[in-house]
Parts: sequence; C-alpha cells; structure tokens
Amino acid sequence: MKLSNDVRETVQRRAQGACEYCRLPQEASILPHQVDHIIGRQHRGSDDVANLCLCCIHCNLKKGPNIASIDPETGILVALYHPRCHSWREHFTVAIEGTIQGLTAEGRATVQLLDMNGEDRVRLRALLLRRSRHP
Ligand SMILES: [Zn+2]
Repeated sequence: MKLSNDVRETVQRRAQGACEYCRLPQEASILPHQVDHIIGRQHRGSDDVANLCLCCIHCNLKKGPNIASIDPETGILVALYHPRCHSWREHFTVAIEGTIQGLTAEGRATVQLLDMNGEDRVRLRALLLRRSRHP
C-alpha cells in the first residue's frame, strides 16, 4: 500500500527536512529524501508514523530491509539505530572533518551498514559543517 501525502508531509515536517540517520539536509541533496520504514514491511513493520522516518537516498539504499547488523568494535549482532526510539546524540557524534562516529554498539553498526562515512558523503558533510548547515 502506498503512503498518503499527509503521512509523507508529517514525516518530512517532523524530521525538519533532514535525514534521520546521517542528518543530511534535503536542500543539500540532489535527490529527494524518502520515507523509510524503520522496521521494514517484510518484518511486519507498520505504515504508522511511529515506524517511519525521513531518509536520504544514500542511507535508504544501504539500509534496505535491514533491522540489525554487527557492531564493528565487538563483533556482536545488534539492532540498528531506531530514529523513533533512540536519541541521535546518544548514539552518534559528528567530527569536525565530517565523519560520523557511533558512540554505542547500535550507532557503530548503523554507521557501518549505512556507509555514512563514504568519501563523498564525508566531503559534503565537512562542507556543510563549515557553513553551519549540518544539523
Ligand atoms: Zn542519510
């Protein structure tokens, strides 16, 4: 079932136009941000706004239907960062050079799975940080 325009607008407004994983602002992306099912439909995740988040194309393509990954530091399987249940600042931090570091097992696993520190993504993030346009 397709999400309604009302639901999409609610998700975009709540996220203030930024990807809820890597925080890329919509205006800094050529491609439109998408509405992501945090728990995918394959896993019986619902279309309720409590299971939706705004997601840039880069994060969405890497996340796919995944809901868990391996923490690169401990090798343990953990659930991914959940934008509705977790606080971004408790799980991630942005370095001045533009990399995002995971502060927790969930944060580290999510950074790695979503390839948040891909070369082009870090370069753009550093530029936005210098211009104070990265939330
Ligand atoms: Zn993103």
